[in-house]
Amino acid sequence: MTLPKIEMIERPLEWPGGARCAVSFTFDIDSDSFLHLNYGERAPDMVATTSWLRYDEIAIPRILRIYKAFGIKQTFFFPAWCMETYPHLVDVILKDGHEIGHHGFLHESPNNLKPDDECMWLDRSIETIQRMTGRKPAGYRAPVYDFSSHTAELLAKRGFLYDASLMADDIPYMLSTKSGDVVELPSHWALDDWPQFAHNIELQYTMPIRSPDEAFAVYQSEFESAYQHGGLFVGVWHPWLTGRLARADRLAKFIAEIRSRQGVWIASMEEIATHVRKLQSDNVPIRKVSMPYYSTAIDKDLKPVQRVKNP
Ligand code: ZN
Repeated sequence: MTLPKIEMIERPLEWPGGARCAVSFTFDIDSDSFLHLNYGERAPDMVATTSWLRYDEIAIPRILRIYKAFGIKQTFFFPAWCMETYPHLVDVILKDGHEIGHHGFLHESPNNLKPDDECMWLDRSIETIQRMTGRKPAGYRAPVYDFSSHTAELLAKRGFLYDASLMADDIPYMLSTKSGDVVELPSHWALDDWPQFAHNIELQYTMPIRSPDEAFAVYQSEFESAYQHGGLFVGVWHPWLTGRLARADRLAKFIAEIRSRQGVWIASMEEIATHVRKLQSDNVPIRKVSMPYYSTAIDKDLKPVQRVKNP
């Protein structure tokens, strides 16, 4: 069977060196931040769950050894509280030359905050990142992808180069706001390890756990189509899920496999966003999406009337 040639991506972007696709692996180092956010005084007694999340301390050095073996530099998104609480993890990441991005302060959801509070936590975390890394973060990912209707503009105002929270394309696009543009490096739930591996009865996540091969089969199919059509692959992973032993083993095999292909550009998020900005300054047309999608709820008169029961 021969398929006709079909352009699945209408206007793919050019990647450096004529690469066929861009790949970035990102790890969100949430550690136990969200336990304190969501459970407060109960959190100190959630000992087994804390130990599950504190596996970060084992997984992060392991992930760094994997990256070193392949000679790649990648991106880690941190809630700033985790940086302040576990500074040795920041040190080892910086020592190996990887990028640190902004992932809230205590993993709070921006779309559950008042705009002033969103600004306050955003700025407090920028200050921590600047103090601990020597520079402002270039990139941002909203905790749980909970981007608010204000977030894009707040990022643009603060000069962020890119965001990594949204899902509206297969290739980078621009978030256009009143205060300027931000590069969006989109991903989606199929590239996230949470649906594959997150199982914790205390937190009421009771999905079946996939084998490493099953999870990576999902990522592999995403990679194959990015490779085929010129897409962007952004893995959204957590050290205490994908960094566990059998999964880390499988991750190393996955990296080896995709590195054996011709024309795969494995880069940090900042490098990819910088490339997109360069294309933009060279007048390459890049899709723009105005943010926010909605600043208020739609007219209540347009809401469907209460559903009538089927006879
Ligand atoms: Zn997170």
